[in-house]
Amino acid sequence: MSLPSSDGSRLDPRLSERLGELVDLTHVEQMLAWDQQVMMPAGGAPARAEALATISRLHHQRLVAPELGALLDDAAATEPLIARAARRDHDVARRVPAELTAAMSLAGSQGYATWLQAREDNDFATFEPALRRNIELARRYAECFPEAAHPYDPLLDRYEAGTTAAQVTTLFERLRAALVPLLSQIALQPARQTFAGDFPIAAQREVGLEIAQSMGFDAGAWRLDDAVHPFAAAPGRADIRVTSRFDEHSLSGLFALMHEVGHGLYEHGVDPALERTTLGSGVSLGVHESQSRLWENLVGRSREFWTHWLPRMRERFPLTLRDVDLDAFVRAINIVRPTLIRVEADEVTYSLHVILRYELELALVEGSLATADLPAAWAAKMKQFLGVDVPDDLNGVLQDVHWSEGIIGYFPTYAIGNVLAAQLWRAAEGDIPGLGEAIARGELGALRTWLREKVHRHGRLLSPPELIEQATGGPLDPAAMLEYLGAKYGALYGISGS
Ligand code: ZN
Repeated sequence: MSLPSSDGSRLDPRLSERLGELVDLTHVEQMLAWDQQVMMPAGGAPARAEALATISRLHHQRLVAPELGALLDDAAATEPLIARAARRDHDVARRVPAELTAAMSLAGSQGYATWLQAREDNDFATFEPALRRNIELARRYAECFPEAAHPYDPLLDRYEAGTTAAQVTTLFERLRAALVPLLSQIALQPARQTFAGDFPIAAQREVGLEIAQSMGFDAGAWRLDDAVHPFAAAPGRADIRVTSRFDEHSLSGLFALMHEVGHGLYEHGVDPALERTTLGSGVSLGVHESQSRLWENLVGRSREFWTHWLPRMRERFPLTLRDVDLDAFVRAINIVRPTLIRVEADEVTYSLHVILRYELELALVEGSLATADLPAAWAAKMKQFLGVDVPDDLNGVLQDVHWSEGIIGYFPTYAIGNVLAAQLWRAAEGDIPGLGEAIARGELGALRTWLREKVHRHGRLLSPPELIEQATGGPLDPAAMLEYLGAKYGALYGISGS
């Protein structure tokens, strides 16, 4: 596919200034949010909420300004790709009445507070009215886009532009049809042991930083801090903030760090020419998640990666790892087990947690499922997909923050990220001779360069479907992921015929 080039050099200075202001407001927002989760004392919460609401309002006012629309009309001929993406942001923001945007934001804050209380009570009934309100507002949002084939489409479009509910349903049916049987085959095998012993946190942080540096983290443009829920923020292209949470009893913090560095590399790798336009960041949540998952799982849970890193780990954790050989280590970091909690799920079960949420929120938006019936529907699907019984709301329907804040249409992007990560991995293996051997020597530069060329540098110039097409040679397709999982876990669990 060939598209006209667009690098911002032919932008009207008045348009450049307006886009630059929007970028600055986004960067300020990122900085405030990072600070809120990493540095801010609890007492700062009310003032921070006001400050964030003001920045968000200023951003919205500038984004919907008619002068911006006129300048974008003029730019369509000279900078078509920049004009196209910025025009889309402008048009979507203008379609939604300010009154509805404000109501959604307020209901989101209230919903979050109610959700925290419901979690404390371990009682969905406390949360149900807030959820009902968020679903109602989501449906009103969807009504602002009457041309959509399904009310879920405009909700999904906020996070994964160009993908529809019909496409997600087809994709997820193929995933589910293959993952549920793979999981039941694995469940028939003897349970695997995790590590006996602990991993002191200071040593994990040291080796985590070394791994991050081999991925591309450098102290001149990055920071690593602790956060309760690990995330990455990018207040600037050369100001990447990654976080993790290290736990003495497991290596989950190391994998979370690789995940967040994957997100950071995407933001850091965008073409600097796009920095002062609103196109200088990742294009969608699914594409973003493909980057984090590729580093965390395809690289970070591979035998090749630990061929280099296990000896370094043994030096740091002699008590726990002295007698653990490479095969045992790789088995221990790839244990598959159906569990109740999405964020703790392994590569095989993770997407099933996502499909469950997608099917439920689709039914809520369609109105075929009442919010009051959600816990029972959740439990039934957990049994059907993963074979587990849900003991209470905390371990079921109250575990994720998204619905409380009115974030509906987001969940599918997690599984889209897994699917795309495997497609990109397959394409990278084809393009980079000796990729596995390089990783086994601790050399990650060729993979990082390939990802920058195929994905990162484009920022938001290409739409997600265009980017996927040019990077992988085809549309989003679960075949690569299913083959990867079948081969990897077939070998790890000694399942024949997979
Ligand atoms: Zn992520």
